[in-house]
Amino acid sequence: MYENTLLGKAYFTRVIVDMAAMAERERDYLAQLDSPIGDGDHGINLSIGFREVTKKLPEWENENLTSLFKKVGMTLLGKVGGAAGPLYGGFFMKFGEAANNKDEVTFEELALMFKSGVELVESRGKAVIADKTMVDTLRPALDTLLAAVEAKTEPLTAFEQCLKAAEKGRDSTIPLIAKKGRAVRLGERAIGHLDPGSASSYMILNIFFDNLKKELA
Ligand code: ADP
Ligand code: MG
Repeated sequence: MYENTLLGKAYFTRVIVDMAAMAERERDYLAQLDSPIGDGDHGINLSIGFREVTKKLPEWENENLTSLFKKVGMTLLGKVGGAAGPLYGGFFMKFGEAANNKDEVTFEELALMFKSGVELVESRGKAVIADKTMVDTLRPALDTLLAAVEAKTEPLTAFEQCLKAAEKGRDSTIPLIAKKGRAVRLGERAIGHLDPGSASSYMILNIFFDNLKKELA
């Protein structure tokens, strides 16, 4: 059934453009989330990285999905300091790699691209669920997406389920003590604060979903 939903360069380019817009729009909010439990730069970091992506995007017109996301990832890695640079940079490099140099992928292949990306974040950051990081959003989102694909759920419903799990995972970070990242040093004082990376990961997943809705409308 998924053969009918092919997602090509136009879809992924819109996703990249929207992520850059999100990084601007949410810059102050994400920085505010990072202030009490980090160093207040998460929004700034993403904005710096995606501004550079936006600048270079026109040069990447002829790339396939693998080389396109390799460039997105390398740009984030090169420009973004802190934890988020290597984690999101690596995420997008692995995400693209799983597209196997193609120009378009099925919804099932998109799910496998997410799988590669999330696994990279987990192996690089060594965080597991309940460590109060972006993994709290990404891992449940991925598990739900893969289960939905396995059950041959139609794409929009599958992604909706994925986002619900992502939202729940994001909000689950509020009462947690951090086991990874800068918030560790706060101990119990981290309790009551939403993790900024779990918030930005939710926003990114939401952009993939929003554009899928437009694509399939
Ligand atoms: P930094 O913490 O270096 O200032 P950012 O503020 O840009 O970098 O990003 C912080 C976010 O990165 C945290 O909210 C958390 O979600 C995520 N993060 C930090 N360390 C890890 C880790 N080891 N594994 C997964 N995610 C992490
Ligand atoms: Mg920070």
